[in-house]
Parts: sequence; C-alpha cells; structure tokens
Amino acid sequence: MIRSIALLGGTGSIGDSTLDVISQHPDRYRLRSVSGFRNIEKLIAICQRFVPDQVVVPDQTTASTLRVALARGANHHQPRQAEPEIRWGPRGLESIASDPQVDVVVAAIVGAAGLASVLCAADAGKIIALANKEALVMSGSLLAERCARSGARLLPLDSEHNAVFQCLPCAALPSQHQDAISHLAQSPAYGVESITLTASGGPFRCWTKVQMEHASIREAVKHPNWSMGQKISVDSATLMNKGLELIEAQRLFSISPSKLHVLIHPQSIVHAMVQYRDGSVIAQLGEPDMRTPIAQVLGWIAGTAHRISSGVKPLELARIGRLDFEAPDVDRFPALGLAIEAMKTGGNAACVLNAANEVAVAGFLAGRCKFTDIAACVELVLDKMANSDELGSLESILDTDRQARAIADEVLTRFDLGFA
Ligand code: NAD
Ligand code: MG
Repeated sequence: MIRSIALLGGTGSIGDSTLDVISQHPDRYRLRSVSGFRNIEKLIAICQRFVPDQVVVPDQTTASTLRVALARGANHHQPRQAEPEIRWGPRGLESIASDPQVDVVVAAIVGAAGLASVLCAADAGKIIALANKEALVMSGSLLAERCARSGARLLPLDSEHNAVFQCLPCAALPSQHQDAISHLAQSPAYGVESITLTASGGPFRCWTKVQMEHASIREAVKHPNWSMGQKISVDSATLMNKGLELIEAQRLFSISPSKLHVLIHPQSIVHAMVQYRDGSVIAQLGEPDMRTPIAQVLGWIAGTAHRISSGVKPLELARIGRLDFEAPDVDRFPALGLAIEAMKTGGNAACVLNAANEVAVAGFLAGRCKFTDIAACVELVLDKMANSDELGSLESILDTDRQARAIADEVLTRFDLGFA
C-alpha cells in the first residue's frame, strides 16, 4: 500500500531529509502535497522531481510565479509533467493538512507559523509526524486533546523524542491510538522512572559568558554535529532548543517535569535514554542524521516496528572511540533554566517562552541584539506575563502569543537603545 504524504515546510532542512527518505521508497510513499515559503526555486525543483498533486505557497503573487515557472519547465530535455494545483496562504496549508487523500502529515514548518496547520491535521484524524516542536510547546494540552478526539496520532520526528519513543515499550502498544503512546511513560506497569534527553551543547559548549556576549551570527548557526535551519541552530547554541524539547517531551509522553532530565553529550550519538524501575537504562544510538527518525516513523506507521532503510551510514563506535557526558550549565546557558521554570509553571508560560524566543532569535539573526540578549529578553517577557492559568482555547493561545511577541519586540528596542 502506498502512503500519501503532505509535507508542510518541504523546502527546509527537515523537508530535505524527508524527501530523501521518500525518494528511496517510491513503492511505499508518495508526495501528495508540499508547501514552501521563501525558497521558490527549491520548491520548483521539488515539484519537478516528485510531481505532487498540490503545492502551497505564501501568497497569490508567488502562486503566479510558480505557475509560470512550472508551465515553462526548467528542463526541456524531459517530457512535460502534470502540473500541480497551486494554493496559497494559511488556508492552502490547512487544506493539504486535512486532505482526505493524505495518510501522513509531516509537520516541518518552523515556529508558531506551523500551529494552525498541525491543528487541522489533528482535527482531520491524520498521522502527524511532528518536527515542528514550537506548535506543541505553545499549544499546551490543546493539540493532544484534538488528537485524542479525532483519533489522530502524533509521532515524534525530533531525534531525541523519536529516540524516547523507540526506548519505550512501543512494541507492546495495545493499539495504535495516540492515547496509548502518551501513556507509555506514565503507566506503572511499564516501570519508567525517568527520561533523559541529550544535547550536544552547541557551538558554545566551552565558551565563557563573556565570550558568548560577542558571539557572531555565523558562529551561532554553526552547529558542531547537525545541519539544520537557522532558528533551531541558534536555539541549539543557547540551549533553548533543549528547553523546548523538555516541554515537548512532557507533552508527548505525559510525564512530570521531575522525571525529565538533560545531559550534555558532545558527540550526539546517544539521542535519549529511558531509565526503568529495575535499573535498566535503554538508550537509542545513531549518527546525527534526521533521516533515521524520519525513516523510523514512516516505517512504524506501515506496521508496528517495521524498519525501512534511511540512507544513513552505519554507526561505527570503534571509529568514534568515546562517548562523553556532562551536566548542563544553566548559569552559562540561562535559556535552559528559563524553559525548565516555564515547564514547571505550566499555564501560559511555555507559550510566552516560545513567542519571546522566536522574536529574540529573529532579532539576533537580524543584528538587532547580542546573542546573550536572547535569554535576557525571554526572561523579561516571562517576568511580565507568565502565570499558571491554563490556556484552554486556540484564541487564548494566539492572544498570548501575540502579546508576548509585542512585549519581546519592545524589549529588543530597549536593548537596541542601550536601556536594558
Ligand atoms: P528550516 O528553516 O530549514 O525550514 C523551515 C520550513 O518552514 C521551510 O520550508 C520554510 O519555507 C517554512 N516556513 C518558514 N516560515 C514559514 C511561515 N511563516 N509559513 C509557512 N511556512 C514557513 O527549519 P528546519 O531546520 O527544517 O526545522 C523545521 C522544524 O523542525 C522546526 O520546528 C525545528 O525545530 C524542527 N526540527 C528540526 C530539526 C533539524 O535537524 N533541522 C531537528 C528536529 C526538529
Ligand atoms: Mg532535537
């Protein structure tokens, strides 16, 4: 049976890895639809190679540009292919996320911009392969509730969460319902004591606070082990990424904050570990390459624990030689501490944290503030807004997101003027 895939955010780094895995299994998966935002040249190339039925772009003007480019055809030596239907804007994204002909929605848009389409996929009862951690972090329990209501399944593509999923007794799942996945870590019968996510430590793992004050954009986006989009690369440098991932793990696996830990592991070979009651620790290892978790999820949906090839080279531990581990330093990396606090506070705190961080990272990438201002900005916004009142509706989530962004923007302007 060929599974149809809607790829939201197909022109990004996760998009690249997903398309690579799909291209290795044309007999199992087909790209039914894809979205792109800025890199239209890349979207054209994807359309020519994968021939999707539908494509989504940000606006009507881009839709016209794409239509003309595809009609002209970039390669005159190839026979002309069927042209996709071109849609645009949030409505376009929502339509491909809820398309009845789609089996799996790969959610790979970066940031809060991906939330609405993920919720649509949830309402439509899809299998959601989730890379877009910000959507889960900001949405509180709303996304899980919508999945539970429709029977949608949320499967983790983020490497650490995918590793946790593999270390939990997922083979023992009584059914393929989301409910079962989110209860694996909770159920006393399985004896899960704690979950540890690893972090490489990022490019500034050994830097002092003073050195980090002067970190350039180029240095911050240069991750030692993973090749990723700019926003998540900066998040990895501040360790906010690991903070967001703790909240992501809390939501995915319904586990209490006290049972979630972070360990710095510079080689990025062990992605996560699950400690069991009897003293066993089960870890998942692999090369730092997102094609592994993507292939695991795409294989798993075809039949429990069915493995497919990913194109990732075999792990050679003798060549790697050693695996190091150290405790994270929240003094040098305050963003991690802020995320842990937000996770414990609950309520609106994770949504505020995420929004302020998105604005601060964009500010840093635009040259508006220093690297160390990112965490400082998030802290000021949390101080102003965070509380433990639950965000029960999409409207309240979007309202909180908007307010936090506005305050973060003011804070950055104050930084700019040298007032903070
Ligand atoms: P990226 O910047 O490389 O790609 C982002 C994608 O989102 C692009 O296709 C872009 O066109 C689209 N996009 C950006 N803004 C948009 C908007 N306003 N509306 C619609 N589409 C928009 O990012 P990435 O590294 O591929 O990361 C994507 C998501 O996956 C992020 O949430 C990230 O945290 C998560 N993730 C990434 C990795 C990785 O290795 N890259 C690993 C784990 C999780
Ligand atoms: Mg990760």
